[in-house]
Amino acid sequence: MSFVVAKGLTRNYDLSEPLIVRALTMRPKRILTAVDNVNFSIEKGTTYALVGESGSGKSTIAKMAVGLLKPSAGTLIMDGKNLNDPALARNEQLALRRRIQMVFQSPYASLNPRWRVGDIIAEPIKAFGLIDGTKAQFMRVSELLEQVGLASSDANKYPHEFSGGQRQRISIARALSSQPEVIVCDEPTSALDVSVQAQVLNLLKALQKEYALTYLFITHDLAVVSTMANKIGVLNKGKLVEEQSPTGLFSRPQQDYTKMLLNSAPSINFG
Ligand code: ADP
Ligand code: MG
Repeated sequence: MSFVVAKGLTRNYDLSEPLIVRALTMRPKRILTAVDNVNFSIEKGTTYALVGESGSGKSTIAKMAVGLLKPSAGTLIMDGKNLNDPALARNEQLALRRRIQMVFQSPYASLNPRWRVGDIIAEPIKAFGLIDGTKAQFMRVSELLEQVGLASSDANKYPHEFSGGQRQRISIARALSSQPEVIVCDEPTSALDVSVQAQVLNLLKALQKEYALTYLFITHDLAVVSTMANKIGVLNKGKLVEEQSPTGLFSRPQQDYTKMLLNSAPSINFG
């Protein structure tokens, strides 16, 4: 079995008006199926990219993958373990969550502005009880900062003292701090300048190689996936409509929706 498997993954949002309004107006419930019976699998140490327009359900899948959101149906399986198994004990759930971390789109919104960078990065280490003692935690934070191309002295600074690209490096250090095997990257470079984007992507690639990380890489930017992905899944209105290797997708797109995405991408250069 593949390292990560999504099986019939489905998520509904209830967009209904309040019950009282519905009772008075006789209007029915409105349910949006944001993610609709999605299946994919990711081999260990590879990158699976999910592409689709805004609103296609990408972030909803990311949130389900890291446990921020429960599927309405279906499940995610990592290393043979069902992440949504209701029978899992709290400590088993926590142990699985440690192994799958997330890097968010906005390096501005995702870092607590009132915390020092060292505390931001150390938080998962403490939450999962990975390293005891302030000194040892400090050493680990220094090591993580250096791994993402920052200085250990940056631990004392606050997020606002960094550029967007550096903040995303901090987010990556934080995601790495629990020594995960899977990282979900939700548009990790779309808030960054193009020149900085490439540096962050190169860092992610280098880390993947070093730690055999498995990536679920989410983007609306096809130029990004051409250099990152081993396999690409195309999401349209919550449904996975096509899945191919990057070369296959760019040379022989099967769906009109995929062709439309390719045509609207500004420039694609193959890696
Ligand atoms: P993407 O990341 O591809 O832009 P999302 O997963 O954020 O897509 O959203 C998919 C659909 O679900 C959109 O139509 C969005 O409006 C809707 N949606 C997302 N989050 C919520 C929510 N908390 N409540 C209601 N609808 C939501
Ligand atoms: Mg999104």
